[in-house]
Amino acid sequence: MKAKNFTRRKFVGTVSASTLGAVAIGSFPAFGATKTSNKLAILGGNPVRQNKSWPDWPYVDKNVMDSIEKTTQSGIWCRIQAKDGTVPTFEKEYARMMGVTRCVAVGSGTQALHTAVEALGLGPGDEVITSPYTDPGTIAAILSARALPVLADIDRYSFQVDPDDVERKITKNTKAIMPVHMMGQPADLDRFLQIARKYNLFLIEDACQAHFAKFRGKMLGSVGDIGCFSHQSSKVISCGEGGSIISNNAELMEQCYTVQNHGTSKFGRTETIGPKYRMNEFEGAILLGQLPTAMERHALRNKNAKYLTSKIKDIPGITPQKLYDGTEEGSFYLYTMNYNKEEYNGIPREKYLKALAAEGVGLSPYIKNGLHREPWVDNIMGRKEYQQMYGKSRLEEFKQDMDCPVCDLVCDEEMIMLWASGPLLGTTADMDDVINALAKVYENRDQLKSI
Ligand SMILES: *Cc1c(COP(=O)(O)O)cnc(C)c1O
Repeated sequence: MKAKNFTRRKFVGTVSASTLGAVAIGSFPAFGATKTSNKLAILGGNPVRQNKSWPDWPYVDKNVMDSIEKTTQSGIWCRIQAKDGTVPTFEKEYARMMGVTRCVAVGSGTQALHTAVEALGLGPGDEVITSPYTDPGTIAAILSARALPVLADIDRYSFQVDPDDVERKITKNTKAIMPVHMMGQPADLDRFLQIARKYNLFLIEDACQAHFAKFRGKMLGSVGDIGCFSHQSSKVISCGEGGSIISNNAELMEQCYTVQNHGTSKFGRTETIGPKYRMNEFEGAILLGQLPTAMERHALRNKNAKYLTSKIKDIPGITPQKLYDGTEEGSFYLYTMNYNKEEYNGIPREKYLKALAAEGVGLSPYIKNGLHREPWVDNIMGRKEYQQMYGKSRLEEFKQDMDCPVCDLVCDEEMIMLWASGPLLGTTADMDDVINALAKVYENRDQLKSI
């Protein structure tokens, strides 16, 4: 095996000085010293960013490698073998970092959410309101409990589920709301806390993208009744596949442990319905190896994101994600923006992204379809158990009220996303490449017509 260079050097060493430097956004036309560099790369001009790579992801260092080796040699490969194994130790340490009393680790973010739903006693006949603009794991957790995921539309600029639409969709069977902290930024928690209180609903935070993000002094995941995280490879604390649940409610967390342990409590009594979702010790070892330096990376992502936003906000037609009052830090799992084609002679997003990619900055349109446009809706409509539990008229109403036009607009035309777990660990010169590419394409937007 070719040894990786696990020092921090690689994060700064891969990038040479930007040949162009940061453009003075706001004083257009400022880009490019020569005529040739004003030609879009897709039309044969010089790309803004060439022969440079982004920092590696997932994060690995010597500490992580040592932690895996230690676990391998210890023979403690399953969490129930030792109280001081990697999984129980990760749970203690993560809970401490999150400012809560308890954490239970499981095999994925989806498993974390499903465990939380089951531990709260939600199931057949119950409705949970969440966002269509999310990972399929969000609704899989609700469906696995045979509860009904009711989807509310999102806000066009924050990409978060819209509290007004959530409130409109509450029925007598609604038991919980599950806001998703998209892109690792807080959903509108002031409103969701108020709605949960007013209608006596559980507030489950899907914080699967939101490790270390802060809202009014609290870590995301610790604001509502229970919070769930994903540790899948792409996420900012990752072990391939993994998940965790946090809360200050001791009884609820005990129930989470029991549910994810095939319904068997820590005292060994098999008490309830539960899958076996235990995290294994190798996953725990990788996570534990990352924690000591995780806050450094978190701070660097926040610093780079702040810099990006300070420049990008002045580029017409590109709007960095809207943040709600009370947002203090983001996880910056993703750095997202809204693309408004009106500022680009009506050029559709796909052409715009092609031009950017040619400049050496690849952004993604991210989620193709909101979950309201996926076939599971018809699947559950046709299922006997859903028909029995919810009744035909409720299911028909559920389907009819499924439209999420803002989510459609964001998916089809407006979202542009920089995956950020690794890239936002880059240098200022890397950030300048992103800014310069966006600025160059804007300045030369008239050329987009001839692509
Ligand atoms: C990643 C993710 C999940 C699911 O987590 P897995 O670990 O992939 O199961 C759920 N919700 C959101 C918002 C996510 O980003």
